Formats: sequence, C-alpha cells, structure tokens
Amino acid sequence: MKRREFLAASAVAGVAAVCGTQRAAAQGAADNGMPKLTPPEKPAQLNLSLQWGTIPGGEIAQKLDYLEQHGYQAFETPTGGWLLNEGEKLSKAMEGRKLFVATACGGSNFAYAEQEKRDKEVENFLPQIEVLGMLKSVGLIICPARGKLDEEGWLTGSALRRDFVENTGKRMAEHALKHGTCIVLEPLRRGETPFLRQVLDGAVIARDINAQIGGMGAAVMGDFWHMEQEEMEFFGPFVGAGKMLKHVHIASLRKRQVPGVDGDADNYVAGFKGLKLIGYQGAVSLEGGFPKDADKEQLLANMQRLLKEQWAMA
Ligand code: MG
Repeated sequence: MKRREFLAASAVAGVAAVCGTQRAAAQGAADNGMPKLTPPEKPAQLNLSLQWGTIPGGEIAQKLDYLEQHGYQAFETPTGGWLLNEGEKLSKAMEGRKLFVATACGGSNFAYAEQEKRDKEVENFLPQIEVLGMLKSVGLIICPARGKLDEEGWLTGSALRRDFVENTGKRMAEHALKHGTCIVLEPLRRGETPFLRQVLDGAVIARDINAQIGGMGAAVMGDFWHMEQEEMEFFGPFVGAGKMLKHVHIASLRKRQVPGVDGDADNYVAGFKGLKLIGYQGAVSLEGGFPKDADKEQLLANMQRLLKEQWAMA
C-alpha cells in the first residue's frame, strides 16, 4: 500500500463515523484512549477557487462570469496596486453574485533587520487590508519571511518570531480585525523559508497574535504543495489547526500544476477528510501552473471533476 492510500484508508473510518446522522453516536464513542473528535455542527463545503491570473477572461465581469458558469465559489485577487486600484470596481462587479473573495495573494517579508523597512512593509499592507475588508474577503495571505535569512540584514529565529507576534503581524492583524477580515499565515517549503513551514506552527503564531488583540485577526492556511514536503501527512495538520484554518491552496503534487496532471500522486482525500472534520467553510484554491501548450479549460474541468470526486470519497 502506498503512503497516500494508507492515509486515505486510515483516515476514512474517523470521518465517516462522525459526520451526518451518526454524529450523536460518535460523540460518546471515544473510550479507546484516542482523542475525542467533535464533528462540525455545519458540514464542510468544497468551495473551489482560482487565482485571478488563472481565471479565463479579460475584464473583471468576464472573469466573474466564468467562475459562476464553471462551478467555482471563490477566487483570489492579487495584492498591491491592483487591489488598491481595482478594489472598488471589483466590489461593484460582485453585487448580486454568489461568489466570495477568498484571499489576496502576493509577496511579503517581515524579516528585515532594519525596523524602518519592516514598518514600511506593514504600512504598505494596511490600506490593502481595508480594501479586503470592504470586499468581505477571508483575508490577506502573509508569508512572514522568505529567503535564506542567513546573512546580515535579517531578523532570524526567536527574534523574528517575537517581532512578528508583537509588532508587524500584530499590527496588521489588529487592523484586519477592525475591518472584518484576517491576515492568513502561509507556511512554505524549507527551500523558501526557514521561518514558517508547518500549518500547526502557523496556527500557534496566529493564536499568540489573537490573544493580544482580543479577536480573530490572524489565521493560518495550508498549501497541499508545501505540506507534501513539510508535513508527515495532510489529515492531522488540518484537524489540528481547526478553526484557525481559513484557506487552502492546491496543486498537482509532483510538478505543481493543475491537480490531475500528476496522476495517482494527486491524492487529496486524507486532507479533505481533515477539512470535513473541522467543518471547513473556506476556499480550496488552485495555485499552480499548466503544462506547455495544454488546453487550459479542459484541464480545469478535469480538476473540478477530480476534486469533487475525492471530496465525495473523503
Ligand atoms: Mg501557496
């Protein structure tokens, strides 16, 4: 049995037993020394999402039409100037639609040794957070630190963590809470950052920020692509993050392209079981490329079919 098959098989009993009509029975059933799992009041939903640049179409309305007509529930916007300039237009174009703005995704780094540079990074994001609040977005994706951080000029280790929790991350989260949205911490692969690589670590950083600001201004996300390398499996990190988990990225697990192109490797069932168990209501958003000269729309349709099939299996 391959690792993914084993995970899928071992996780299935748990969620199948605690969802739906068997909920009440399952709540009293954990007398075997295993942690007692509380099934969600509101069942999880598979809200499929695309990043802005991936959505076919040119104008804002065309892209939103495409999403609605092809079974998507959400999308991600770019950050920076695009968000500041197009936010108002996007808000108008969203009127009367069932879609939601999942997140805004772009670069960030809060590890500069110089305080002024870190302050500048925070100040860049504050107006963007206001736009996301206006759009009723789940939140702003933040990767707290990127790069090797092993040369002079960078905060590292516990100094970086403390500064993010008590200064940069806290200031953004406070602002986000005030505007009805969140910062959503994204763990990356070790080649990309030495700082935040695991979903549960991100959940703890977010919790420490929230404890200071008295509300949910910080949350965490999981990206299947990063998790494939950095976590032992997909189920536990999602279940452990629980209500702190607000967003999910997905890609094929060998080439980081649209799910389905890597055949059997693209198995997300164990992760979906975790999302079901926590009653996940956020988006599952494609962050990945396409094979050269591929029929993009055909591959997106394949992805829809594959992810819905695996969600049903979970
Ligand atoms: Mg990602």
